[in-house]
Formats: sequence, C-alpha cells, structure tokens
Amino acid sequence: MSARILLVEDEPGLVLTLSDLLSMEGYTVESATDGPTGLAKASGEAFDLVILDVMLPGKSGLEVCRELRFHGKDVPVLMLTAKSQLVDRVVGLKIGADDYLTKPFEAPELLARIEALLRRAKKEKLAPMGRFQFGNVEVDFEKADVTKGGVPVSLAGKELELLRYLVDHRGNVVSRDELLEGVWEYQPGVSSRTIDVHVAWLRQKLEENPQNPKFIHTVRGVGYRFSA
Ligand code: CA
Repeated sequence: MSARILLVEDEPGLVLTLSDLLSMEGYTVESATDGPTGLAKASGEAFDLVILDVMLPGKSGLEVCRELRFHGKDVPVLMLTAKSQLVDRVVGLKIGADDYLTKPFEAPELLARIEALLRRAKKEKLAPMGRFQFGNVEVDFEKADVTKGGVPVSLAGKELELLRYLVDHRGNVVSRDELLEGVWEYQPGVSSRTIDVHVAWLRQKLEENPQNPKFIHTVRGVGYRFSA
C-alpha cells in the first residue's frame, strides 16, 4: 500500500521534480500551489504526510500547519524552509510541524525524512490501545505492565512491541517480513530467526502450554496469527 503525500509548494519546477521523485518511490502524490488550497486539501482528505513549504501565496506554511493542528489534524508535516530561516524552523516545530528540511536539499535526504516520519506515524497509530486482556493475561501497553494470573511477568522491550503488533493485528496473519519491518525496522543482524525466538519467549511467558499455544499461533510457511 502506498502512502499518500500532499505536496504544498508554489515553485512549479520543484513541484514537478518532487512529484516525479515521490511517484517513482511508489508514493501517491497530490499537490497544491498555495496556502489556502493546501489547507483545504490537507483538512478535507486523508493524507499520510504533508510536505509544506513555508513561503506560499495566500497563507504561509506556518499558518497552514497551525490551522491544521488547531482543527485536530495530526497528519505528519514536513516543513520546507529556505536557507537561513532559522526562525521559521523553530516556529514551525513549535506549532506542530514534525520535521523540517532546508532548501536546497538532496533527494535522498528528503526520502529519508519522509520514511522516518511515516514510520513514526505508523508506530504511534498502534499506541492508543492502552490495555488488553486475553486468557488470564493482562497487558498495559502504556505502562509496559504485564501480569499473568495476577503475577507480574517481565517482558523485554522487543517482546512487548512484538506482542503489541500481534495484538493490534489480531485475527490476521502477520508475516515475518511484516514483523521485520514493523517491529524491528529492518535493524541489521535481525533475521526471521530472531522473530521466531522472540515468539518462543512470548509463548513461554504468556501461554499456559507453550508447545500448544492458544493465543500466538504459527501459520506454517508464513508467520504468526494472534487470536483471543
Ligand atoms: Ca515557496
């Protein structure tokens, strides 16, 4: 699934270059060339990310961002500022931009920032579920608090993240590739074997009978499925 990006930028050349670049990377790109149009699009449609130039006709990028946040839109915003506009960056971050990039920038830099923001947003989407219960296990994901039959269970950070990922996608088969991306973020040295080991630990700690798991199921040749 490709992320949808809104590009709000008034320099025609840059709009063209960036649209091409992002499309080639597999993103779906829409653009707006002034502040009011950008704000209307960003408010009215679902985007995964907004790239927002600061200097725009009609309404500055700062104003657009401020209004988006004011109306509760939490879409990630990457601000584009001109060189030396330090004030813009500081103000931008203060009013809710997630990151900024100084013009002129190189394509790889932009792509790296975009990927990081999308990844962060994806992680945060998993966050709201505070507590979850299955069998006699209770998990408070926010406090990283796990008990089994009322007895505290200690889970390592990655075990908890893995559990949260599985729980969040409960009922669905989650492939090892997806876990490598979603939980381990393609950390070097992490293989599907790492995942299997973590799953085994989770079962050991949370299942009544780890050999015959009731919650964390293996889907042969594919990955895992959580069901409760
Ligand atoms: Ca501009």
